Amino acid sequence: KLANATAKAELGRASWKLLHTMMARFPEKPSDDDSLALKTYIQLFARLYPCGECAAHFQKLLRKYPPQTSSRNAAAGWACFVHNQVNKRLKKEEFDCNNIGDFYDCGCGDEEGKGNG
Ligand code: FAD
Repeated sequence: KLANATAKAELGRASWKLLHTMMARFPEKPSDDDSLALKTYIQLFARLYPCGECAAHFQKLLRKYPPQTSSRNAAAGWACFVHNQVNKRLKKEEFDCNNIGDFYDCGCGDEEGKGNG
């Protein structure tokens, strides 16, 4: 039981980290194709998330609060908001979404150097 809970929490931390870091790198002015890619990614993430109970809850959240992908700010703000919804349900502290700005740094250099370490 304890080992299961630890694994679930580890998976959650890693997944949130990836999700928020992707948002922090999403284009400020995305093309329609960029926006569609992110929307699709989030829907598939929710569908394929390995913890089934979590996936079911998250899919419900997505129906209530559809992903916002019109800009980096919109996407980062949306992800912070839905993470806070999960925090609330799990009785965790809420994160101040005004402070999300520089919190998630991929460590991959400037915008131009995307993916080049
Ligand atoms: P986490 O919630 O994992 O957060 C990690 C770090 O992110 C925090 O330390 C903080 O620095 C930062 N952070 C916190 N809130 C925000 C925010 N709103 N925006 C940006 N950054 C933030 N666990 C369950 O037991 N049941 C579930 O149903 C469940 N559903 C989940 C659904 C999804 C889609 C995901 C990704 C995870 C789910 N989890 C679930 C796992 C759970 O959300 C936590 O990841 C896990 O409990 C570990 O929590 P934590 O306290 O270490 O912080």
